[in-house]
Amino acid sequence: MERIVGIAASEGYAIGRMYIHLEAAEDWSHQTALDPDQEVSRFQQAKEDACIELGTVYHRAVARVGEHHSGIFKIHLALLRDDDFCKEVSEYIQQNHCTAEKGVQEVGQKFFRIFEEMDDDYLRARGADVKDIVSRLLFFLGENRKEEMGDWLPKGAQGILAAEEIMPSQTIRMDVDQVTGLITRTGSRTSHSAILARSLQIPAVTGLGKQFDLLQDGSCVILDGFKGLVIQDPDEETLSAYQKLAQEYENQQKALESYKGMKAVTQDGTVVELCANIGHPNDLDEVLDNGADGVGLFRTEFLFMYWGRQPTEEEQFGAYRTVLEQMQGKRVVIRTLDIGADKQVPYLRMEREENPAMGRRSLRYCLENPKVFLTQLRALLRAARYGKLAILIPMVVSVEEVLTVRKLLQQAAAELEQEGVPFSRDYEFGVMIETPSAAMISDLLAPHVDFFSIGTNDLVQFTVAADRENPHVAALCDPQHPAVRRLIEIAVKNGVRSGIRVAVCGEAAADPAMTRFLLSIGVRELSVAPASLLEIRHTIQSLRLT
Ligand code: PEP
Ligand code: MG
Repeated sequence: MERIVGIAASEGYAIGRMYIHLEAAEDWSHQTALDPDQEVSRFQQAKEDACIELGTVYHRAVARVGEHHSGIFKIHLALLRDDDFCKEVSEYIQQNHCTAEKGVQEVGQKFFRIFEEMDDDYLRARGADVKDIVSRLLFFLGENRKEEMGDWLPKGAQGILAAEEIMPSQTIRMDVDQVTGLITRTGSRTSHSAILARSLQIPAVTGLGKQFDLLQDGSCVILDGFKGLVIQDPDEETLSAYQKLAQEYENQQKALESYKGMKAVTQDGTVVELCANIGHPNDLDEVLDNGADGVGLFRTEFLFMYWGRQPTEEEQFGAYRTVLEQMQGKRVVIRTLDIGADKQVPYLRMEREENPAMGRRSLRYCLENPKVFLTQLRALLRAARYGKLAILIPMVVSVEEVLTVRKLLQQAAAELEQEGVPFSRDYEFGVMIETPSAAMISDLLAPHVDFFSIGTNDLVQFTVAADRENPHVAALCDPQHPAVRRLIEIAVKNGVRSGIRVAVCGEAAADPAMTRFLLSIGVRELSVAPASLLEIRHTIQSLRLT
């Protein structure tokens, strides 16, 4: 029996035979071409074919996992149609008198390296998208294009698939009746393949690194997607323990379905507003499907990351308006740009800092760059006409900051008024309580705002002085720590006393072990990832507070 620990990328259990898929790497490096013009046309034809096929993949994905999880294929289409990439491939072919295959490989490698060298995990993971596009183009340049891509298990077989790397377009083609689990050498929890695996409910463990070499094709494995664990050749006792766990999990999942569309009310009648956290308008399908009471946190920095360049006021307005309209009058909390630390946006060129989590990030960046900030505030005020908007300010540590933002909002409104651009002053204004200082002065902050939203992720890291991104201190990042609980309690008490709304939107809101505590101190609003809505609704419904 061998226990191999990787990254828990998609929850669930899989038990069965493992199939290792190894792709033979093709070497295009020495291919010269007699007629570069002909190679450029071959490349253009392959690009057209790939775009058509990608359109089909996109529609297939929408049918399988909904619009929300299929956005990646729109991104792939945009990358394929990207003028810079195509121009560079054509130029490379012309300048080096090489084949279309080599041009695609070389330019693809260059783009891949740009992503790979980025500090941010999310953007680094985008390198996989470039690889996906390159392999798609090579497929269409090849002779053998009848072969079905992604069909990696022998016909009729069912089991766990292990591969060096699995790309999003391959994941989406997985037949869930055939592939019961995924194991990869590379990858992270934020890679799109991991996101798709979660939406397809295929348990996955990624990032095995060198340990991937320990895997043996055909062996029996247990995949524990909660712990990021792969157990190869388990003994009888371990096997039967996991069979029991897997059965229990399956029963739980089936039972949760019945909570769709229900209200979150405790056994003794306490009503909780259960909202969802999103990072993009595409996330709304699952929010609406699971019947959330509103959007409790729209992390707008993800929009800035998706776009790959600074979105214009018009583009931001469009995205905020879409969310407000789709939520049909339900409250939508949109948080202003919270960039920096783990959320880098390369084109904004933030300076490197020794300790970025405590540096010029988030609200501090916005106040130092009023042009960027005002563009967002203007877009928000314009969008306020289309629904019930609440504007949320991150990383607040002082009353002065709140007053400055209020002034900037007035400035944005005055500008719009002068320009005759329609907007609304009908919105709520709130602050994140995610620093110990904000919690400690929450009595002073409350008179200036309409609501608090407690961000336990940052509150925990700053309270226990342990980086939330560092796996070596992960055990210290515990929202149950008495110091964290005290700070939460102080903020809730001050908010309730001042008669303002108090919500919790950090990960602790999605932790069933925290629900009783949060409700018992007076929290009546929770905002969680869309995938956690049903579980937390179930937890609330099984609680009795008195
Ligand atoms: C938090 O810090 O708890 C929070 C919700 O914000 P983020 O996770 O985006 O930092
Ligand atoms: Mg935060």
